[in-house]
Amino acid sequence: MAKNKKIYLDHAATTPVDQAVLKEMLPYFSEKYGNAMSVHSFGQEALKAVDTARTQVAQFFGAKPSEIIFTSGATESNNLSINGVLKSYYSKFHPVKSAKDGVKQFNGVKIKPHIITTAFEHHCVLDACRASERDGLAEVTFLKPDRDGLISVKEVEKSIKSNTILISIMYVNNEIGTIQPIEKIGKMIKKKNAERNDFSSFPIIFHTDATQAINYFDCNIGKLNVDLLSMSAHKIYGPKGIGVLFIKNGTPIKKIQDGGDQEYKMRAGTHNVPGIVGLGKAIEEVKSQKSKVENIVSLRDYLIKRVLKEIPKTILNGSKHKRSPNNANFSFADVEGEGLLLSLDMEGIACSTGSACSSGALSPSHVLLAIGLKPEQAHGSLRITLGKHTTKQEIDVAISKIKSVVERLRKISGNVLKDFYTKK
Ligand code: PMP
Repeated sequence: MAKNKKIYLDHAATTPVDQAVLKEMLPYFSEKYGNAMSVHSFGQEALKAVDTARTQVAQFFGAKPSEIIFTSGATESNNLSINGVLKSYYSKFHPVKSAKDGVKQFNGVKIKPHIITTAFEHHCVLDACRASERDGLAEVTFLKPDRDGLISVKEVEKSIKSNTILISIMYVNNEIGTIQPIEKIGKMIKKKNAERNDFSSFPIIFHTDATQAINYFDCNIGKLNVDLLSMSAHKIYGPKGIGVLFIKNGTPIKKIQDGGDQEYKMRAGTHNVPGIVGLGKAIEEVKSQKSKVENIVSLRDYLIKRVLKEIPKTILNGSKHKRSPNNANFSFADVEGEGLLLSLDMEGIACSTGSACSSGALSPSHVLLAIGLKPEQAHGSLRITLGKHTTKQEIDVAISKIKSVVERLRKISGNVLKDFYTKK
C-alpha cells in the first residue's frame, strides 16, 4: 500500500463501480444512446440491452423478467412498495368520495389498513410509513428490534391484525448489519394468508428492503417468500441512481408516478439504459464473487476482536453472529461520533457514524436508539464496512488510527469536563 493512500471503509454507503461494469456501460452513453421505447434501430438496440439486464437480474432472484422493475434506486423502490400497495388497496375498495380521513368503505364496514414495519428501517421506509399515518391512510406498527438488533418472527406474527395489508421488514440493517429472518417471516405470512377469511380479498403483502443483503445472502425470492423486494446497484459495485423493485406477479400494487408506459406501466420515465446495463453486469459479478465472502468475514472478525480488546470501554452494536460479513459497528464511551469521523477522515480513513444519509444531522442514530442504546452511546458510534478489495494491511492501519484518535478525543473530553467542574 502506497504511503498516505486513503482507506475506504464505508462500503455500506456506496461501493466503487467495478471496471468490468463500467466497460459494459460506456457504449450506452454516446454510441448506443437510443431511447428504449423508440421503434427505430437505435431504440431497439437500447431495448435489447435493457431486456438482457432484466434477464440477468431475474435469474439472480429466481424471478421472471416480467417481475423486475427498474427504478432509480432503493429509495424509490421502497416508496413505490408502500404507497403503491396502499393505492391499490384504496382503488380496490372504491373509496367513498366523502371520506376525508382516509377511512374507506369495505363490505359496509369502515376499515383503515394496517402496516407493520420496524423502528430501525432506512429513513425512506420509515418516513413513507409515517406519511401514510399522518395522511390518515393507514395505521402503522413500528416493531422494536431486541438489544441484538433482531426482529423475531413471533413479534411480527403477534402484530398482525385482521386489517394488516403490508409488512415491510429489511433483510440486513444498513447501520449495524444485523440479518432478519426474512425466509421464516415470509413462511409465517404465507400461512396467515391461507387462513385469512375476513379480509381475504386483500392478502398481506410482504416487502423486504434487501439493499444491504445482495452481496452476501441468498436472495431467491421463492425461498424468501416475499412479494416485493428492493435494491440499489451502487451497493454492489454498480452505478448510482439505478435500482430494482421485484414485484411478484399478481401482487396488488399501483404505479405512483404518471407518465410513459415504461416498465410494464409500473414506473414511468425514460430508461436509464447505461445504469440498467451496469446493474445487470454488477449482479452477474455478485454471483461469481460469493466465494470471496469468507475473506471479508475473517477480516471483520479480526477487526472486531482487536478493537474490543485494545480499546477500553468499547462495545459492538448488533448481534455478533447474525450480522453482515462486512459490518462492524462500535460505540466508544466518552467519544463523540462526529469528532471521531472527522479526525479519522483527516488521517485518511473513511467510515461513518449513524447512516451516511443522516450523518449531516447531529441527532443520534434512530437504529442505535431502537436497539436500546442511550443517546450518548449512540452518539459515540462508528460504522466500519469492508468491501471486496479491503486488505488486512488496511485494517491494521485503521485499527491503529482508531486507537490513537479515540485516546486523543477521550483526553480532550476528559479535560473539558475537568475544566468545567474546576471552574464551577
Ligand atoms: N435501504 C437501505 C437499507 C440502504 O442502505 C439504502 C442506502 N443507504 C437505501 C435503502 C437507499 O438507497 P438509495 O439511496 O440508493 O436509494
